[in-house]
Amino acid sequence: MHALSIDTFEFSRLKERREGETAVAEFTRLSEEVAEPSGTVVWAVEGSTNALGHPQLTLSVKVAVKLMCQRCLTPFAYEIESESVLALAKDDEAADELEARLDDESIDVIVGSKNMNVLELIEDEVLLELPPSPKHPVCPDQVGQDTEAMVSAKRVSPFEVLKNKQ
Ligand SMILES: [Zn+2]
Repeated sequence: MHALSIDTFEFSRLKERREGETAVAEFTRLSEEVAEPSGTVVWAVEGSTNALGHPQLTLSVKVAVKLMCQRCLTPFAYEIESESVLALAKDDEAADELEARLDDESIDVIVGSKNMNVLELIEDEVLLELPPSPKHPVCPDQVGQDTEAMVSAKRVSPFEVLKNKQ
């Protein structure tokens, strides 16, 4: 995977923004979690300062990954589109403190760095959005079964029976 390093604190202070498109196949950990490493992650990262003056990064990712359906064992496209806020702390101790102070489940606190690989954050974000047990909303073979059931119901309909008697 290519590295795209930023100084997280400077990036936030200067309210910088980076965006890009990176092939799923370039993310090693993500590639292992999907049925096939196809598709492209469209991502953006933006630095800012929150109301309390803390530096933070806003990450957004959008991708359709191929996952294996746990019900019918065929791959299907799963759409991910998410945005999350990462508050930056100087070290582990400051991170714990900040987490307690923010008391907000929707904000993750990470330890910032002068040399942070943005693509690793992007990969983490996509990994977090993967469902633990991916399934089609409706499996293709179930659709087949339903159609078959309808056909057999039709076969025994009274109209059919009458028609057969004539
Ligand atoms: Zn399925």
